[in-house]
Amino acid sequence: MKITGIETVVCHARMRNWVFVKVLTDQPGLFGWGEATLEWHTRGVVGAIEDLAELVVGEDPTRVEHLWQMMWRQHFWHGSGVVRSTAIAGIDLALWDIVGKLHGVPCHQLWGGRVRDSIRLYCHLGGGNLDSFYSTPVDNAKRFAELASEAVSEGFSAFKSMAVPPTMPLEGLQAVKSAESCVAAMRDAVGDDIDIMVDCHARPSPAMGMRFAKVLDPYGLYFLEEPCWPESIESLAAINAAVTTPIATGERMTHLAAFRDLFAARGCEICQLDLTHCGGFTEARRIAALADAYRIALAPHNPQGPVSTAASIEFGFSQPSYIICESVHSDVPWREEIVQEGFVVDAATRTVAPNTRPGLGISIDEDAVKKYPFQQEVPQRVFYRDGAVGDW
Ligand SMILES: [Mg+2]
Repeated sequence: MKITGIETVVCHARMRNWVFVKVLTDQPGLFGWGEATLEWHTRGVVGAIEDLAELVVGEDPTRVEHLWQMMWRQHFWHGSGVVRSTAIAGIDLALWDIVGKLHGVPCHQLWGGRVRDSIRLYCHLGGGNLDSFYSTPVDNAKRFAELASEAVSEGFSAFKSMAVPPTMPLEGLQAVKSAESCVAAMRDAVGDDIDIMVDCHARPSPAMGMRFAKVLDPYGLYFLEEPCWPESIESLAAINAAVTTPIATGERMTHLAAFRDLFAARGCEICQLDLTHCGGFTEARRIAALADAYRIALAPHNPQGPVSTAASIEFGFSQPSYIICESVHSDVPWREEIVQEGFVVDAATRTVAPNTRPGLGISIDEDAVKKYPFQQEVPQRVFYRDGAVGDW
């Protein structure tokens, strides 16, 4: 069997363009779906996939590890840059989809069978709707509480919020107090049985990240995400050591060696590897094995499109240390129009039963995708009150 071509199918989704990767084979009707969505880098990723196709077209798609090694190591430059690692991931996921289809089993079945009966989902406030999640101001704690109650009424037992504002390298009490009011209001609204997460989006400096982590510690967050830049591993480690709240990070890390450094420094308790950025299942399984050695839990970053979600779910059914899956359901209304999934979500509990279809169990309606062609992603620019550039 040979790979005969690699196509990209781009579907606009407001803040993102979903980049679906279709790997074609010479076996009639056999192809695989992957996803390589990278917001604000859509054209770059589509081009990178074109460059990689030159390496793998004509090769046997079942030699997944061998092809991964080619994509990572050949063409001189290693595949660790996020554009290339995302492109590799898209192709790698599609190759595993092909292998699953060839054997007539879901991907998780290829890696030793399922290790759990269901997977818990968490949502973003507003269901991943750009305006609710990213644009609710932190001086509006009441709105945070309303959105939190809404998530719970939709069946979620866990949700994530952006309760930490864009933060200058040093701020006075106001930013810290605003974040605390939002978290206090959410906790009051949903009680202790619901898990609340706060994503700092790596907005704070290490010093401010420490202050946010300490002030939010008494509220029993399930985890606190990216309290400072992912490059500041020693500061992540210091924050992780200073509070009881588990620190989560990893969505911007693209390869095994970066995770090795993070884990060795004990920079987190939860590893948020992204299957569409860290080289696909092939590299993610190595990262997961390494995380196991440190007893670090897995909670993949997954705000992208539906193939990414299917991949995160397949991964979760194969990984003992996997605790929860990020999900968005209200980002754009056409999500359900373009995809059919093999896994089933129980709407009452927002837990997922295993996919029983081969591979990733996904089918994409390419005619429906044509209705939502590429558009420039909605810009998200942050400037501090003095006009200096901030982190979104
Ligand atoms: Mg995040």
